[in-house]
Amino acid sequence: MILLKDTPVTTWTPTPSKWPLSRWMNWSPGRRDIVFALVALVVGIIVILPGRDGAGTSISGMQLAASMFAMIVASVGLNLLVGYTRLVSLGQGGFYAIGAYGSAWLSLNGGMPALVAIVVSIVAAGVVGAIVAVASMRLRGPQFAVITLILAVLVETVLTQGNTFGRLAGYPNTGQHGTGTLEPLSVLGITLNPPMIANERATVMIPLMVITVLVVVLARNIVRSSWGRSLSAIGESEMLASHLGVNVFGRKVAVFVLASVLGALGGVFATQAFGHLQPETFDIFLTITIVLAVVLGGSGTVLGPVVGAVVIVWLEQSDLLTQFTTFQQDHVSDKWFLSSSGIVGLLFIIVLFLMPRGIVGTLGRVLDGVLHRRRTAQGDPMVDLESAFEPDFVAPEQRSPVGDELLVVSGVSKRFGGLKAVDRMDLVVRAGSIHAVIGPNGAGKSTLANLLTGVYRPDEGSVAVGGEDVAGRTPHVISRSGVSRTFQTPQLFHSETVRENVLAGFSDTGSLPLWRAAFKLPAQYRREAAMKARAEELINGVGLGDVAHLRASELPYGKQRALEIARALASDPKVLVLDEPAAGLHATETSALGDLLLVLRERGLALVVVEHHMDLVSRVADDVTCMDQGGLLARGNATQVLADPAVITAYLGASVGPEEQA
Ligand code: ADP
Ligand code: MG
Repeated sequence: MILLKDTPVTTWTPTPSKWPLSRWMNWSPGRRDIVFALVALVVGIIVILPGRDGAGTSISGMQLAASMFAMIVASVGLNLLVGYTRLVSLGQGGFYAIGAYGSAWLSLNGGMPALVAIVVSIVAAGVVGAIVAVASMRLRGPQFAVITLILAVLVETVLTQGNTFGRLAGYPNTGQHGTGTLEPLSVLGITLNPPMIANERATVMIPLMVITVLVVVLARNIVRSSWGRSLSAIGESEMLASHLGVNVFGRKVAVFVLASVLGALGGVFATQAFGHLQPETFDIFLTITIVLAVVLGGSGTVLGPVVGAVVIVWLEQSDLLTQFTTFQQDHVSDKWFLSSSGIVGLLFIIVLFLMPRGIVGTLGRVLDGVLHRRRTAQGDPMVDLESAFEPDFVAPEQRSPVGDELLVVSGVSKRFGGLKAVDRMDLVVRAGSIHAVIGPNGAGKSTLANLLTGVYRPDEGSVAVGGEDVAGRTPHVISRSGVSRTFQTPQLFHSETVRENVLAGFSDTGSLPLWRAAFKLPAQYRREAAMKARAEELINGVGLGDVAHLRASELPYGKQRALEIARALASDPKVLVLDEPAAGLHATETSALGDLLLVLRERGLALVVVEHHMDLVSRVADDVTCMDQGGLLARGNATQVLADPAVITAYLGASVGPEEQA
C-alpha cells in the first residue's frame, strides 16, 4: 500500500439532515448491520407470535408463515445466481425437492436420525449442485437455464413418480409406512412440533424463523462483500472478473453450490412444517414460483427475494384468488375463467411490465434517484466534467532509481488461423519505468497486451513476472502475481458507482473466503473500512473525487478511462498494462494522464503503455517498442524510434503519420 499515499483525500461529506434515510446512510456499517439483523429478527418474531398458544385458528397462519420461510430461503439462494451472477437457473425446485424428499426418506427408509438425515440431504444437494455447475460451466443464458430445468424435471419425476415415494399417496403414506406423517424432529430433548395439531404449540416455527433470519442476514453480508462483488463482476463479464483476480470457474461452482444448499434447506423447511410431502406441490410450477419470487421482488437486491416470496406465497394460499375464480365462474363464464395460477401469472405480467426491476428494485431506484438529486443539489460539482486525470498528488522530490526487470517477455507468438498477430516478440520492463508499445492499427499491440495478461495462451515463448513464468496461466493467476490492466474499450460496471467500481479492483474480490464474507467478523469491518479509504485515495488520485458517487455510465469517456486506471491500481500491482489509455481523450486530459503515468513510474511501477499519441509517448516513455505486422520494427528511446525511417514508413503505410495520430 505505498501507491499515492500522500494523496490529499477530499471525501464527499453529506450535510447533516433530519431526513431518516440520510441518517441511516450516515450510520457506521456495523451499526447499520446490527439494526438490520435486529429488525429482521423482530419481524420474524412478530410473524410467528400469533401461533404461540397453538390454538386451532393459528394453525393455518403458522403454515402460511412456514411456507413463506421455505420460499424465502430458496429464493435468497436463487437470487445469488440470478440476481448477482446473472446465471438464470430453473433448477431451484429440484434442489428444494432433494432437501424435502431426501431428508424424509433418509430418516424414514434409511434409518438415519432425523437431524443427520437433514444434513446429509443438504450436502447431497450441494454435491448435485457442484456436478451440474461443473457440467454446465461453459454455458450461459438460455442453455444454462435449460440444463438446470432438465435437472429440476428429472428430480421431480424420480421423486414423485417412483413407487418408493408413494406416488399419488404422498410421502410418507399409510400403505407403505404405517403412518401418514413424519415424526416431529427432536433436538436436545425438545420436540419441534409442526403446526398441525390444535392446542399443541408449533415449536418448529422458532428454528424455522431463526434460520430464515440468519440466511437473510448472511446473504446480505455476502452480497455486500468483496465476495459479492466477484459475483457481480462475473455477471458483468467473466473476462473482466478473471482480470480482477477472480477464479471464475471456482466462484461459479461455489455460488451454484450455495444456491443449491439454500434450495434444499427450503425443502427441509417444508418437510418439517408439514410432516407430509404431496407430489403435486413439487411439480414444475415450484421451480417457476421460486424464479418468479426473485424476479417479482427484485433480483439483485437484498430484500427482493424476501418480499417476492412473501407476496407470492400469500397470493397462492389466500382465499382471494379462489374467490376471484368463483366470481368469474358465477358472473362471467364457467367455461372460460382464470384459475388461481392463471391470475398469479397475469399479475406477474402486469407487475413486471410496470416495474421490470421488481418491487424492491423499483423502490430502490426511486430512493436512489432521490438521494442522487439531494447530493447533486448539495453543490455537487457537475460543472467540471470535462477534465479527467487531475493527479493532485505531490510528485516526490527525486525519482526512485529504475529497478528490477519486473516483466520479461521473450519470443512470444500468437497465431489466429493463418495470421501471425504476434510474432516472436520480446519485451523487458523494469520497476519504475514506462515502456511504450506503438505501431499502426492491426500491428498486434492489443494481442501482445492480451498475451501478457492471460487472455490468450502464447503459441510459443515465455512471460515472466517478477522472475516467475506465467505464460499460459489464466488471467486471475497472472493478476494475482501482480499484473493489472486496462482495456482498449473501458470495461466498467456501468450501473455501479465510481466507488463500487474501484472497490471491485481490490484483490479481496478474488481472495476473500466465503465464510469471512458471510460472518463478517470485526476484522472484516476494518478491512472494508481500509479498502474504502484506499479507494477514496485512488479516486482522488486520478481526479475523480468530485464524481465518486456517480454511476460509471454517467461519466464522460475521459473519466471512465481514469476510473479504469484507479480500479487497476486498487490491487497494488507491480506491473500495469494500459491499452491505449489516451484514446478518446482531449489535450488537457492527455497531458494530465501523462502526469499520472509519471507519478506511477516514480512510485516504482513497471508500466506497459500501448499508445498512439506520440506527444504523450515522447513525454513519458523510457523505452519505445514499435510493432508492425506482429513483429518488432524498432526499439530504443522515444527520440530514436520516432525518428526511425522504418517507423515513419510503417505509419505512412497505414496512411497516417505519427504526428497526425497524436
Ligand atoms: P492492434 O492492437 O495493434 O491494433 P491487434 O492486436 O488488435 O492490433 O490485432 C492484430 C491482428 O490480429 C489484427 O489483424 C486483428 O484482426 C487480429 N486479431 C486480433 N484479435 C483476434 C482474434 N481474437 N481473432 C482473430 N484475429 C484477431
Ligand atoms: Mg489495439
